[in-house]
Amino acid sequence: MALKDLDWANLGFSYIKTDYRFIAHWKDGKWDDAQLTTDNTLHIHEGSTALHYGQQCFEGLKAYRCKDGSINLFRPEENAKRMQGTARRLLMAEVPTELFVRACKEVVKANQDWLGPYGSGATLYLRPFLIGVGENIGVKAAPEYIFSVFCCPVGAYFKGGLAPSSFITTDYDRAAPMGTGGVKVGGNYAASLLPHELATEQGTATRKFADAIYLDPKTHTKIEEVGAANFFGITKDNKFITPASDSILPSITKYSLLHIAKERLGMETIEGDVYIDQLDQFAEAGACGTAAVITPVGGIQHKDNFHVFYSETEVGPVTKRLYAELTGIQFGDVEAPEGWIVKVE
Ligand SMILES: *Cc1c(COP(=O)(O)O)cnc(C)c1O
Repeated sequence: MALKDLDWANLGFSYIKTDYRFIAHWKDGKWDDAQLTTDNTLHIHEGSTALHYGQQCFEGLKAYRCKDGSINLFRPEENAKRMQGTARRLLMAEVPTELFVRACKEVVKANQDWLGPYGSGATLYLRPFLIGVGENIGVKAAPEYIFSVFCCPVGAYFKGGLAPSSFITTDYDRAAPMGTGGVKVGGNYAASLLPHELATEQGTATRKFADAIYLDPKTHTKIEEVGAANFFGITKDNKFITPASDSILPSITKYSLLHIAKERLGMETIEGDVYIDQLDQFAEAGACGTAAVITPVGGIQHKDNFHVFYSETEVGPVTKRLYAELTGIQFGDVEAPEGWIVKVE
């Protein structure tokens, strides 16, 4: 085994074909034996519900290379559970946790030459997905399902270290109350493409907006999501606050940060309302998700007001500590809470 010859430190986030992907088929009430394949295309029925009625969902997680060369998966059972919740909401066949974690492990193991060396910042991004397939035309649950996991080498999100981004609120909603905002379905992303584009277009030469901030779909007064990431703020009296709402996607990174803030940084943590007109309470703010772990939020444009948190160019001390602790756990340098790390062997 020899690592692929990639420029690990400068990898971005784009599709790179790796050698193997895992694929399983569900039919007549059960999953088949499943296997690794080198084929990165799917051949599915033209009437597949995934193509017409959005009966599909996905997950995202990473594999990390440790100092001793071993490989960590970070909380894959949580992704498995979340995909099961999504499957229930869309009336899809559920992927058992055991099958999900096995798929992740097998894909990483088979493609381990694509996972860069410790210290390069490169990771292997895993993309599990579940789609409704098989002969169909009417609006109903599919007769068959495909569950697959593929992976791509990706670079450190922040090449030169953590750096803040600014965001702008949008009038669009990414999800409805009691809709599908709380589950990881592709339709939420389709709905976010236009607001994302409009947000980036509203930037100026001196102030760029990385993405749109979605407010709560009922009242448009509270922060829900920062693009496709959850929001958190550190109050001036050092509390970690993150919005609570059924239309927010429950980010595993967010729940990990809640745990770290409370148990390791000794902070009070609150899941509650974050009103867009009460941002003054925060000393720092961030967006969190698997891709970037934490994106420090420099400022938020809402109507005519641009609110700066810690700084538009510098990263606050609590954000730095949270980031260091969580990435330390993921790369195996810091002791992990029980069950957070699954070794690929
Ligand atoms: C996937 C996702 C997140 C981040 O979840 P993680 O488990 O932390 O990666 C946040 N918001 C949305 C809308 C998402 O789809």
